[in-house]
Amino acid sequence: MSTQMSSASTSDFAFPVAARYAGMASSPLKDIFSLAARPDVVSFAGGIPDPSLFALEDIAECYDWVLRERGTRALQYGVSEGEAELREQAARRLSRELPTDASQIRVTSGSQEGLFVAAEALIEPGDVVLVESPTYLAAVQAFAVHGARMVGVETDDGGVLPDALDAAIRAHHPRLVYLIPTFQNPTGRSMSAERRAQVADVLRRHDVPLIEDDPYGELSFDGERFAPIASEPGMSSRTLLMKSMSKLMSPGVRIGWIRAEGPILDTLAVAKAAISMQSSVVDQLTVARYLETKDLDAHVAKVIEVYRERRDAMAQALTGRLPEGAHVTRPQGGMFLWAALGEGWDAQDLLADAVSAGVAYLPGWSFFAEDADRSTMRLSFVTHSPEVIADGVGRLGEVIARRG
Ligand code: PMP
Repeated sequence: MSTQMSSASTSDFAFPVAARYAGMASSPLKDIFSLAARPDVVSFAGGIPDPSLFALEDIAECYDWVLRERGTRALQYGVSEGEAELREQAARRLSRELPTDASQIRVTSGSQEGLFVAAEALIEPGDVVLVESPTYLAAVQAFAVHGARMVGVETDDGGVLPDALDAAIRAHHPRLVYLIPTFQNPTGRSMSAERRAQVADVLRRHDVPLIEDDPYGELSFDGERFAPIASEPGMSSRTLLMKSMSKLMSPGVRIGWIRAEGPILDTLAVAKAAISMQSSVVDQLTVARYLETKDLDAHVAKVIEVYRERRDAMAQALTGRLPEGAHVTRPQGGMFLWAALGEGWDAQDLLADAVSAGVAYLPGWSFFAEDADRSTMRLSFVTHSPEVIADGVGRLGEVIARRG
């Protein structure tokens, strides 16, 4: 064994890194995970499902069945479009929101790969992508490394503003629009049915395609389910609708899918093949088996129970602890709360003190394509028990009070 080990950060050779990756050496997400890992810190930073909620026995049973009963197929190369059983199950599930045939499904290794595959298929360097302000930062990254220029569109508590979207399309002639209409990351906000219809109207009038990212829609705390924008008249052919098993079953299995219509389905399959041939066949067949033989709805109902209680615990703990004039969202589902501390506050600047006090959050600036509100922070309420949440928010309150 070699005794000469080079550290991850030092080397006597500098690879000529592609310009689109320069300055991306440490992604903000990577930093979150290292913060979250410190045992003495109550971290609200990551969007990390509570591992104690994983349906371990059921999932183990499905992996076991796949390897024993479908072993030679599961361990072989598969098709880029995705395994037939999984596409069938995905189409069945999606059809509760929007009629979908298995032939319209493209399986991806999580939605993150879905975003990358879509970017690969659609974006030319220099294209503009319109995003909500703020939006999911890893999506921005997937678009940016394909040379896209992100332009943020103004939002309010009901999501993206249709007039602002209309104006931005006129001004920037975007290649596509990227939206997370339900329980958005990072704000937890959702677009009403009326807002969805207005947004669909704008997109139809300008013939601009939509990437609708929906990993959180099923995590609805009060039972309200929002129909996807893709189900608005004329929108199903203009939309790539992205779904993921990460927040419902497990992020580790890395399974998601894109629903599309028409010739773009072929392009998506070619892009997927170029990137990774296909998603793990073992994982695809296991998720298909799980969806076929287990009750995902019952499992999700249990997850919702727990998350709702934690959302309440965090909202309750934050009451009276933020500076006067602060604004905080009270999401009806999903995983995140979004707080704007207001004029004069900088959440990034506050973070070092917060971590010293044993609490971490994600500064909100990184979620803005431009004109960041630096007083904002994203707080995930799903990882910890109500007691730990109260303790962590208490620590945050003390740090804020000391600065205030
Ligand atoms: N889109 C959004 C809005 C997300 O919040 C996430 C996960 N944090 C993803 C996509 C990617 O999820 P995955 O790749 O695990 O499906």
